[in-house]
Amino acid sequence: MVVGVALNGYGTVGRRVADAVSLQDDMKIIGVVKTRPTFEAHHAIKKGYPLYVNTKENRKAFSEAGIEVAGTVKDLLEDCDIVVDAAPDGIGMENKQKLYKPMKVKAIFQGGEDAEIAQLSFNAICNYKKALGKDFLRVVSCNTTGLCRTLCPIDKRFGIKKVNAVMIRRGPDPADIKKGPVNAIVPDPVTVPSHHGPDVNTVLPGLNITTVALKVPTTLMHMHTINATMNNDASVEEILDIFERAPRIVLIKAKDGIKSTAHIMEWARDLGRARSDLNEIAVWHESVNIRDGELYYMQAIHQESNVVPENVDAIRAALELETDPAVSIKKTDMTMGLKKWW
Ligand code: NAD
Repeated sequence: MVVGVALNGYGTVGRRVADAVSLQDDMKIIGVVKTRPTFEAHHAIKKGYPLYVNTKENRKAFSEAGIEVAGTVKDLLEDCDIVVDAAPDGIGMENKQKLYKPMKVKAIFQGGEDAEIAQLSFNAICNYKKALGKDFLRVVSCNTTGLCRTLCPIDKRFGIKKVNAVMIRRGPDPADIKKGPVNAIVPDPVTVPSHHGPDVNTVLPGLNITTVALKVPTTLMHMHTINATMNNDASVEEILDIFERAPRIVLIKAKDGIKSTAHIMEWARDLGRARSDLNEIAVWHESVNIRDGELYYMQAIHQESNVVPENVDAIRAALELETDPAVSIKKTDMTMGLKKWW
């Protein structure tokens, strides 16, 4: 069975999700929704994605630009099995109320929406089974996804008593020319905790986690420094073994010349990944340390792409195309060429 996926919000995340869905044999993009006839609209057509417009009013701009659209978002939603909403923060809620709920269409939302938008905040490694058959799922943000990916397997194996984590966040995305900071380090927020810890709790409700966050003048990646106290003693080798085996985490080494987020992105370019994406969480091998029984490590998050495989798995879970998380994760990762299956 091949299900029809609509993509509403064809931007940074949406474009990547559309391409990842297209690699699967159990789902297919049946249309993407654009608001304006920009270069992304031309690319969508070249890729063979039927193009839809979000409102009738915006249709004129497409015809003036010589772009033929297949219809409006409502036409697309009538034909799809599920929609992935990757519109800007807050628009997902409007779309839910105006479109998806009245039209009874299942939807996958992104982390910029409040958790209340969905029946479950989703991370494939942590809670895939809870998502089976749900009508509304929310793939948590890039930072929350990064925290969940590495903390979840450690918690399963050793039990985590407490986590303190510092998020060093990229200012804007690379193409976001209007935002900063350009020359400042900004506590964001200046209070403790940042929203990331509570957001992790929407996926892992029992985890005792406190996060603080700062924004810095870079566009490439986020970085996290993480400190965890575990219930049971663990060695550095055992933690490295967890990261080695877990999906969607890659261990990188400073001694191999990967000393910064710039080097990680250079490495991803050399891997030949589409758009130079690194969908996995990159953990520095040398940063994994245990001191006085507490675990320390540093990880980098490619914010534009790490949530993409999660969106594919969320579609499978919501439509119950696959009940076994490991099977879905492996299928997604093999098709996308991630980690173990290079
Ligand atoms: P974006 O601005 O790059 O893309 C959003 C797209 O939606 C744009 O093409 C915009 O024109 C379009 N759009 C605007 N209004 C619309 C409407 N009413 N209907 C349909 N499309 C509309 O945004 P993004 O960075 O891809 O973020 C999308 C979601 O993903 C947000 O919830 C965000 O928080 C989340 N997210 C973003 C990142 C990231 O780093 N960019 C990472 C993880 C999660």
